[in-house]
Amino acid sequence: MDMKNKSEKYFDYDTFINWALTTKCNFECEYCFNKFEPPSPPLKPIDIKKVIRTLRKTKRKYLITFSGGEPFLIPNFIELCKALTKEHYISICTNLSCTEKIKQFAKEISPEKVKSIHASCHVMEHERKGINSFIENHNMLKKNNFFIDAGYVIYPPLLSRFEKDILYYRSKGIIMYGREFIGYYENKKYPESYSKKDKKRILKYYTIGQSYLKGTPCNAGYNTVAVVPNGDVLICYFVPLKLGNIYKKIEFNKKMIICPIDACQCPLKLFEPKLFSSACKQTIPYTNQEQESLINSFKIKSHHNFNLDKFIGKIGISIKRHNPNLYYKLKKIKDAQ
Ligand code: SF4
Ligand code: SF4
Repeated sequence: MDMKNKSEKYFDYDTFINWALTTKCNFECEYCFNKFEPPSPPLKPIDIKKVIRTLRKTKRKYLITFSGGEPFLIPNFIELCKALTKEHYISICTNLSCTEKIKQFAKEISPEKVKSIHASCHVMEHERKGINSFIENHNMLKKNNFFIDAGYVIYPPLLSRFEKDILYYRSKGIIMYGREFIGYYENKKYPESYSKKDKKRILKYYTIGQSYLKGTPCNAGYNTVAVVPNGDVLICYFVPLKLGNIYKKIEFNKKMIICPIDACQCPLKLFEPKLFSSACKQTIPYTNQEQESLINSFKIKSHHNFNLDKFIGKIGISIKRHNPNLYYKLKKIKDAQ
């Protein structure tokens, strides 16, 4: 069955939620973004009834992508998938290591309701932990008619071997792409510090990564949102203006925002082009003035001295991700004030 065609035809959702269920993971990849996040609260079951109630109130049909951390670690993850797939569609980003839960998922969830499973392949962790179930779990899901692809982070220490690794996995029937590493390695900033030669090699295996969309309209907040582990619903992970909470209420923006971020690492309008194009047909972007007052209304609601530049990341998320040492130095100074 051609799963790409199937995706186009059957998945008639009108809104996309990217939900990081937890920052907890059973892997400890050196390059994991989450290691710069505050420690995640202990893993606890999701309040499924409240989630369903919130989504129903919006009268939308969703594709909900679960990511993390590792979503299969959530104690009632299969029950959550089962409940949501009665009315909506799901996708999962996973390191594919929780074998027993993955088997249960394949048994209990219909592939017709799962748009895709994206497996992240972390060879350094596989080797360090002696894990060799990646191919087996992939093949089991594929055999059960789930569309599954895989990504390989081209971390600088893997530059000498990534082509061989990716070709090996492809030879086992896995649709695998390379992903550029975003962050610092040995005081050099990536992806900017890949050599020209390496960039050329990476391009042959590459899929969408960091994008430069500042100043362009984006459907984030209109028909795509990001949800963080405490349930807060944000415009996207880089514009963390709150639109509600998945356990209570979501209020979508009425228009599209103009992206204020220098480098977007999760360009939802490129990942979900169909929803971006519906947004372009249904609405228009906020004017500068409207966007300013939207931000000001958050300022009033949030009752703290809101500074967009500071809050969204030039001196916030971005520094935290790209130069954690500097971030913590600045934080120490700020906390001491
Ligand atoms: S598998 Fe993903 S979430 Fe887990 S440590 Fe690695 S990069 Fe982080
Ligand atoms: S950071 Fe990315 S997802 Fe967020 S508004 Fe900009 S382009 Fe859209």
